[in-house]
Amino acid sequence: MSAFTRRSFIGTAAAAVGSFAALQKVAGADRSKSDPGPANPGLDGQNPDSIWPPPTDSKSLVQNFKYPFSFANKRSYEGGWSREVTVRELPVSKTLAGVNMRLTAGGVRELHWHTSAEWAIMLYGTARITAIDESGKSFVADTNKNDLWFFPPGVPHSIQGLNPDGCEFMLVFDDGDFSESETVLLSDSMMHLPPEVLSKNFGINQQAFAKIPKQELFIFQTDVPPSLADDQKAAAGALGKSPKDFAFRTMEIPPTKQTKSGDVRIVDSRNFKVTTTAMAMVTVHPGGLRELHWHPNADEWQYYIAGKGRMTVVATGNKARTIDFQEGDVGYVQKTLLHYIENTGDTDLVFLEMFKSSLYQEFSFSEWLAHTPAELVMAHLNIDKATYDAIPKTGGVVMPL
Ligand code: MN
Ligand code: MN
Repeated sequence: MSAFTRRSFIGTAAAAVGSFAALQKVAGADRSKSDPGPANPGLDGQNPDSIWPPPTDSKSLVQNFKYPFSFANKRSYEGGWSREVTVRELPVSKTLAGVNMRLTAGGVRELHWHTSAEWAIMLYGTARITAIDESGKSFVADTNKNDLWFFPPGVPHSIQGLNPDGCEFMLVFDDGDFSESETVLLSDSMMHLPPEVLSKNFGINQQAFAKIPKQELFIFQTDVPPSLADDQKAAAGALGKSPKDFAFRTMEIPPTKQTKSGDVRIVDSRNFKVTTTAMAMVTVHPGGLRELHWHPNADEWQYYIAGKGRMTVVATGNKARTIDFQEGDVGYVQKTLLHYIENTGDTDLVFLEMFKSSLYQEFSFSEWLAHTPAELVMAHLNIDKATYDAIPKTGGVVMPL
């Protein structure tokens, strides 16, 4: 009992009522939704559904499924920076990891390749990307906001910021244990090879390699490259350009589904041939809801690009948890778990749903109920026929329709 309630009791109520226990109960109930100890108002304000969860959440919690990029430390270089959210930061995120990177105009993410596949979306500005395919043919392209690229494991590539202000992008790797620090770099490769081997391999005098870097570059500043046509021609040489397109222009396709409350663009191997990572880019207008659904084939890794929202994940074993998200956050939903995302702000909510799968798949909660015998559903939920009939027959993706 706090000093305040004790004083109140002794001072005003004891003689009149004579029931200490009754008053203590009333005082306790009045104070149960208070939080008088230390607090962080900034973070509390961003996480209202964690501070006071909706009563539908379970008291035994679902494993945390949010990590803000604001918590990830940056590796800074002249030419840009990178930061990552992997299974080390967010233990539930076992299948995918995200790397957020900024390059200045002329700044280069050094030539390298990965043991995992690299999927990317441009968030700001413009970059030139380079790669070769398995027949040695070159790929050089410029990418703008919302464009994607995909480099399969082992495909060597580079990224360079262009004028006027370089770029920022999100990379998604199909291994939660990935780290951007664990890649095969051109500089690393060269410095770890005996000079006489380099000489023999390239048929070039050893002295010509005397000034190769003695430590990794990773990100470095150099000049903005020449025109795209010049770079494409120089890289193609006698072999010619690769017939493969490692880039995809997201905004050049119409929305896959659209309602008055928002839209979704689905990009997977059906329209972006080279990819083995599937994306749904979702926009939910204020007041809208990304409808209740689940994914049968893969975990979902989310990146919140704009706006504010909240998501409840209904897990197995009678558990559920609601978490708030905003621009720059990573979210995660394990395969098959039921979830929705509600716009809780007054601007558009834009986020990515990413899957380690060539194909995007989902089940709509509404479609399921609408295509199960009516009497069976009504007997479960104690609803009347009119209510059953009102359940949407086709998944709206973003509600209300
Ligand atoms: Mn890469
Ligand atoms: Mn989903």
